[in-house]
Amino acid sequence: MPTLSDIQDKLRRPLELELAQGCQNRAVSGGMERLLDSFARPFPKVREALRGYGELQPDRRQEAVQAALVLLAPTDRPAPKVPTRVETRPAQNASAGSPETDAAPLPPGTELSRVNFGPGAPRKFAALGLHTLRDLLHNYPRRHEDRRALPSLAQVEDGQKVTVEGVVVSKSRRTPRPGMFILEATLENPWGERVKCTWFNQAWVEKGLREGLRLIVSGRAKRFGRSVQVAVEHMESVGQDSLSTGRITSVYDAKEGISQDFVRRATQTALNRVPPGDYLTPRWRTQYALTDLPGALWGMHFPHDEAQLERANHRLRFDEYLFLELRVLLQGEDAVLLGKRFSASDRDMQAFEAGLPFRFTNAQRRVLYEIADDMRAERQMARLLQGDVGSGKTAVAACALYLAWRDHYQGALMAPTEILARQHYASLSGYLGGLGVRVGLLIGALGAKQKTEVQRQIAEGELDVVVGTQALIQENVQWHNLGLAVVDEEHRFGVMQRRKLLAGRPDVLVMSATPIPRSLALTSYGDLELSVIDELPPGRTPIQTKLIQDTARRQSYGFVMKQIREGRQAYVVTALIEESETLELLAATQLADDLKVLLPEARVGLLHGRMSAQEKDEVMDSFRRRDFDVLVSTTVIEVGVDVANATVMVIENAERFGLSQLHQLRGRVGRGSAQSYCILVAGEHSQKTRKRLKIIEDSTDGFVIAEADLKLRGHGELRGTRQSGLDELRLGDLASDLEIIEQARELAKHILKHDPTLSHPGLAYLKAELQARSSQVAYREVI
Ligand code: ADP
Ligand code: MG
Repeated sequence: MPTLSDIQDKLRRPLELELAQGCQNRAVSGGMERLLDSFARPFPKVREALRGYGELQPDRRQEAVQAALVLLAPTDRPAPKVPTRVETRPAQNASAGSPETDAAPLPPGTELSRVNFGPGAPRKFAALGLHTLRDLLHNYPRRHEDRRALPSLAQVEDGQKVTVEGVVVSKSRRTPRPGMFILEATLENPWGERVKCTWFNQAWVEKGLREGLRLIVSGRAKRFGRSVQVAVEHMESVGQDSLSTGRITSVYDAKEGISQDFVRRATQTALNRVPPGDYLTPRWRTQYALTDLPGALWGMHFPHDEAQLERANHRLRFDEYLFLELRVLLQGEDAVLLGKRFSASDRDMQAFEAGLPFRFTNAQRRVLYEIADDMRAERQMARLLQGDVGSGKTAVAACALYLAWRDHYQGALMAPTEILARQHYASLSGYLGGLGVRVGLLIGALGAKQKTEVQRQIAEGELDVVVGTQALIQENVQWHNLGLAVVDEEHRFGVMQRRKLLAGRPDVLVMSATPIPRSLALTSYGDLELSVIDELPPGRTPIQTKLIQDTARRQSYGFVMKQIREGRQAYVVTALIEESETLELLAATQLADDLKVLLPEARVGLLHGRMSAQEKDEVMDSFRRRDFDVLVSTTVIEVGVDVANATVMVIENAERFGLSQLHQLRGRVGRGSAQSYCILVAGEHSQKTRKRLKIIEDSTDGFVIAEADLKLRGHGELRGTRQSGLDELRLGDLASDLEIIEQARELAKHILKHDPTLSHPGLAYLKAELQARSSQVAYREVI
């Protein structure tokens, strides 16, 4: 994102050109004022100086340009950093003014239905899961786009992601081959330059695309000599004086049929209606150098500049950790729960290991002793088992389940998806079946009759270990004698889901492959104790990873074809396109079509988020059976799917993924003994992207990757893909927020030490906010 001084530079150039050309108002086609309209908004004095430029006499024009250039002269002063500054509310900011400002203030808990947001608003809020003014205020943008000064086409590089504003001057459509529909529109930007925009297979866009409409589009640019074409990923239409343009603009998670503009206006209304309170006292704000809440909320949704956005982000991130800590500490109250008590003898562990086709690694053995110690204790076990993909967590969990079974207790393993549940079912049957343990599967895809039957077997103790999805915790599952619950990839489940499984107070083992530095695990998992498997089983051939640019795509697929000819299978993953399931589906379909050309001999299958759980399972099963060679997929394969014969993974537009996510994805190959490969295709060719992706190329260690990622992401950078993996954190990133987390923990402890039940009237707002956040987490939909 360019800084204000970058914009200053960019604005200076045409002015200098104008001066050199004798002020004929030709440096910008369409006239100087046109440029100013969308370009000089952050510099009101410059706009003032050049007002009515076209009408001025040449010598007057010269004065005006010179005055503007003085105003735009580069300054070397660094922006002053005043962390505790009280933000001015942009009610004084003309572009954010609103007729609602004068209306009576409403408390943040006010239901949205009580405020007039215009026709259709209730349906839209319901679709977005927003109920109160507070929800709207804390519905943070997914990202920000700098639209203060949109680039001139001359500055656009090939492959770069760009945002362009312009008016539609023409449109057309083509159907180059059956099943493919390309819509093209030419936009004229404020510089008078024209840019061609393309939409693939998105027929519905055409209807809304009138000539004369002013649009903001973003997408990837392709250069053909002097002309530029943009493959549109995000599009908005904008009015003349909109919240959407000429500023740092918020882009929200949206649903189809809900415009960005609607969310922005509603948020603005909410900001204007809620009185300026804060749940943190001025003293705490000063102590931790935090900006005040109203300023932070305005700054998050409608920042004037990067500095305000940074302060807002810092404050709201602090709040996330504070409430998380408060919740953890408050829950800790009744944490001395009695759980099950098992004998968990060394002899039983040895017996289990004797039945394995391998020996446990030292790391597996160490964590097993930690788990066995917990199981023997009277206290309820609450342990997080963390280890990289393929480190052998499932084998360890199987051993723990075996120990429970030896004491005649039932065991459960809950997985976040049906695919994973099936897979765990297969491996647990392998580990435990031979030892006489009866393993069952309970997932939504079972027929009603089958389900009832499994439920009966659970209730009557005819099954010893049951693997399943959240079907395991539904009302009609009555356990005979649940002793140990294993939860895989816990962060995908809400707190309530976990609680339900815990109703009978079984011991609990949570498995996660998300690398979280040890110091932070306590925060993120609250009461859980931590065991780490920090060693991979021997004999693994490390995955070879190669980073290429999309210009070399053809050769890479040549390599993939070679592997397929040798009888191997491949994954090809495409990034999820934000904001639209339809687009996601189209991206995957499009890629599958591409591959028919790039990999002519291969059989290609498709997996995407729009499929039902059952459809996904069918596709995975047939891939496992080798019914086809290449599985094209969106990120739904992210977690734990195992196909040993798949040795290649191609990740398209790798730059759109977080590093940890890339690492997880890559873990899908290399599950067998054969050499496996991961090809990262960079769709963007900047130095920064290359440097980031090189981390994945150079390392296969999840912790190293998480740390390197943290070092690379400097301060002040706008937030991209969320990586924390924790539902509660919308802004925070566990890997990089160590200092904030410690401060928040300190404050949470301080608050509860003086008022353990938060009943002091001065803490009422804090308490209400804590309750709002807790219930949001608890009722979150699973998966
Ligand atoms: P995770 O659950 O951590 O992803 P798994 O338990 O699924 O890892 O193990 C990955 C693969 O490694 C499985 O095929 C498993 O059989 C194998 N495996 C597990 N432990 C060992 C070990 N100690 N030695 C050799 N292979 C192992
Ligand atoms: Mg696993």
